[in-house]
Amino acid sequence: MARLTMRHVPDPILRQQTRRITQIPANLKQYTDDMVETMHAEHGVGLAANQVGGLQKVAVIQLPEWNEPLVLINPEIIRREGEREVEEGCLSIPGYRGTVKRSERVRVRALDLNGKVIRIKADGLLAQALEHETDHLNGVLYIDHLVSRESFWKITYESDPPEPTDDEATAGEPRETEEPQEPQEPRASREESE
Ligand code: ZN
Repeated sequence: MARLTMRHVPDPILRQQTRRITQIPANLKQYTDDMVETMHAEHGVGLAANQVGGLQKVAVIQLPEWNEPLVLINPEIIRREGEREVEEGCLSIPGYRGTVKRSERVRVRALDLNGKVIRIKADGLLAQALEHETDHLNGVLYIDHLVSRESFWKITYESDPPEPTDDEATAGEPRETEEPQEPQEPRASREESE
């Protein structure tokens, strides 16, 4: 497996419509394995091919509690129900989050790696991820669904240790100095990014 190079906004590939896969190529399994590895390394719960420079209609999703990733070829939302506002992030828009409008429930039709039709009924985080990844494959980003201009913000990291008070500061014990951290997408279990 190999980690693929992430594409970030404003890379035009993120605005491109991907191509439906008519015949599943033999190397697609390898490619989706690489996508999964990249998604894990980036702490995401989903990844679409154009986020890593691919133009085929394929995405992977793995929720925090799942043991196996879900590979979706030519995914299509065939039904949406309800509306809700949810917080969202994207591996291609690092360092930001936003509040978006999403459906409460979706039904999705896709193919698996064997070319078999799979149908998924989902709500919660899975519904959100399915809408997010299907959007990606159609050149749509979550920032297109922001509930308002103000509902998009830069993530502030609370990783700095609190200033020690006089009581806590132990004389003679050097304070731990932390390496400056690369901004990381928050853990999927807390705040998901796709
Ligand atoms: Zn995304």
